[in-house]
Amino acid sequence: LTRNPGEREFHQAVHEVFSSLTPVIERHPEYAESAILERICEPERQIIFRVPWTDDHNHVHINRGFRVQFNSALGPYKGGLRFHPSVLLGTVKFLGFEQIFKNALTGLPIGGGKGGSDFDPKGKSDREVMRFCQSFMTELHRYVGEYVDVPAGDIGVGAREIGYLFGQYKRLTNKYESGVITGKGIGWGGSRARTEATGYGVVIFAQEMLATRGSSLDGATVLVSGSGNVALYAIQKAQQLGATVVSASDSQGSVYDPDGIDFDLLREIKEVERGRISEYAARRGGRSQYRAGRTVWSIAADAPADVALPCATQNELNAEDAAVLVKAGVRAVAEGANMPSTPEAVHTFQKAGVLFGPGKAANAGGVATSALEMQQNASRDSWTFDYTAHRLEQIMTRLHGSVRQTAEEYGHPGDYVTGANIHGFQLVADAMLAQGVI
Ligand code: NDP
Repeated sequence: LTRNPGEREFHQAVHEVFSSLTPVIERHPEYAESAILERICEPERQIIFRVPWTDDHNHVHINRGFRVQFNSALGPYKGGLRFHPSVLLGTVKFLGFEQIFKNALTGLPIGGGKGGSDFDPKGKSDREVMRFCQSFMTELHRYVGEYVDVPAGDIGVGAREIGYLFGQYKRLTNKYESGVITGKGIGWGGSRARTEATGYGVVIFAQEMLATRGSSLDGATVLVSGSGNVALYAIQKAQQLGATVVSASDSQGSVYDPDGIDFDLLREIKEVERGRISEYAARRGGRSQYRAGRTVWSIAADAPADVALPCATQNELNAEDAAVLVKAGVRAVAEGANMPSTPEAVHTFQKAGVLFGPGKAANAGGVATSALEMQQNASRDSWTFDYTAHRLEQIMTRLHGSVRQTAEEYGHPGDYVTGANIHGFQLVADAMLAQGVI
């Protein structure tokens, strides 16, 4: 705490992982002997840099750029870039720390890292976003590479930003190094099914959890928060599996659509037009309503729900929301966002016997498919959608099984938080032990 003052979310993330580790530390004294806990929460490298750029009216702006290269025990650092005004060093460290264990859980050879900036792409023209991305990469290119550190998207960084970042990397290095960044367009080194992967993966994880109790998403009523990349494709996949998804949101309000979200309309508004969720209800009509300033969880106060998929941002679901969801009949929660549930909310769900899939397990499908994109780039290959989606499904099913099995082994059957934390930690800690005190 004294070493990382004010980094509230980072403290929360470290506390969340460490509070699961007592049984594994007791069973394996070698971890304590080589100070694994102290080492694992200290990033290998943190880079903070100035990002100057010029807007369309010729005004100069300065933002702050970050890249935290947290842990390379399992492979090159891998993790997204977030562009959002709330981004601080502590935000990037929390995300990077989570990423270490998430990446380990995929079973693929990727280390953990994260980056971003306090730049807000909202309301900026394409040219402004391009100039910002070019300036960001002008510094970042020194620290990334196919075998070094492979960034990707996150909040505020989608296909457009990845394109500008890659273009500038190529220009600065004079190399067509496809594997330096993931989330690229299909025509120039991107992977089919990457756009869908995180949302689809969350739903596959939820389906696997429900199956352990003889249930499924077919016929279920699902609440999804957010309306970005993760939320959109979680909605699509859940509906493909027979669920009715009745909500979506952004930071200004939510939509309740009891007849089921019209995926094509929502995608058009959010992905194509870059509009706001408030436009959805106006264009959809029928029984859909826009609820300004209200979260999707408030919907559960008046309507029953079976499954909740928080897919917006960290700490968006608190203990009160969790209590409302439990009362509404929610049986399973799978986190599409990173750390969307507060510790008190997680406790409320677990106490009520709700199946709870933490983000580092449930949303690992995105980074797993990014690693598949790296494989395609390394072999100069391009796989079909079906093949890639099938690999994603295999990875998520296997991940669910290994997390569940670890929870059982350590005396916490059905506790996916403990299972994910211990299993991810052990994979990384064993590699760190083998590689010496570095
Ligand atoms: P996007 O930028 O595409 O979308 C984020 C969405 O969440 C936007 O609709 C945004 O609304 C909304 N949002 C932000 N804050 C709030 C809030 N307080 N209440 C309600 N809605 C809010 O990001 P992604 O979909 O990529 O990321 C969402 C989450 O998933 C993040 O936690 C991210 O770290 C995590 N994640 C993403 C992965 C990926 O592959 N993209 C992989 C794994 C995890 P607004 O437009 O108003 O800001």
